[in-house]
Amino acid sequence: MSVVTRFAPSPTGELHLGSAYSARVAWQWAREAGGRFLVRVEDTDIRRCRREYETAMLEDLRWLGLDWDGEVRRQSDHFADYGRVLDELDGRGLIYPCFCTRADIAREIAAASSAPHGAPHGPDGPLYPGTCRHLSNEERQRRVADGVEFCMRLDAARAAEQAGPYAFVDETQGRIEGQPLLMGDFVIARKDTPTSYHLAVTVDDHLQGVTLVTRGEDLLPSTHVHGLLQKLLGYAAPQYAHHRLLTDPTGRRFAKRDKDLTIRALREAGKTPQEVFALIDAFPVSA
Ligand code: GLU
Repeated sequence: MSVVTRFAPSPTGELHLGSAYSARVAWQWAREAGGRFLVRVEDTDIRRCRREYETAMLEDLRWLGLDWDGEVRRQSDHFADYGRVLDELDGRGLIYPCFCTRADIAREIAAASSAPHGAPHGPDGPLYPGTCRHLSNEERQRRVADGVEFCMRLDAARAAEQAGPYAFVDETQGRIEGQPLLMGDFVIARKDTPTSYHLAVTVDDHLQGVTLVTRGEDLLPSTHVHGLLQKLLGYAAPQYAHHRLLTDPTGRRFAKRDKDLTIRALREAGKTPQEVFALIDAFPVSA
């Protein structure tokens, strides 16, 4: 089977050293295997993403010589694909509308924290307490008719039951048993878009025939829920290679806020692509 990898940046800022490193990991796996390297623009967060950043990122990738195969897929052009999958999950009784505001959720969590078992935690802090999972259909319809904004959440316990056990393989860590409840009832469609990061990534990796997902190890928890969605939807699970994150000498990760370490800034300062890669190779990676 031919290797297909992808680099999937969100255009919320300029390409920096950390993301260029990540792009090169995916590019290298594909090129060494004589496979395909895809680029996908993950712009479902329409409030934060900008077309100018997308154009700049693609230009920077090209300048670095990280050439990609085929068309760039832009997620905001494919909402209908995600909508179809949402409808399927809905038909199977696996998703529900959630009308909670951030303040509602914080209040529920604070109340649960004083209970004997406390509020359940996930990798990013307390999990959604499940308030809206218990609403009656009539109540849901009433709130929708009243124009209350809502997102959609996956009923993780029910999904785990329908999916059954699953596992995924990471190139360095080997076989990892899927933990379907790791992120609780996560958001599967946001209030402002008919999808979420988790849904769009899972659907796209499947539709694009991605065989090896390379991405930062900070996204390992997400892989557990992507595995759950793949199992539910009957998609073949890709292999994974979670890579370490490039850090500055103090151990801090690069982020879009590090303006002087964008590829653009380095290029304008007269560096060549070779010098940029040499710089990347000189930085430490997370322990
Ligand atoms: N769009 C994500 C990001 O920029 C990466 C998603 C992925 O590789 O699955 O962090």
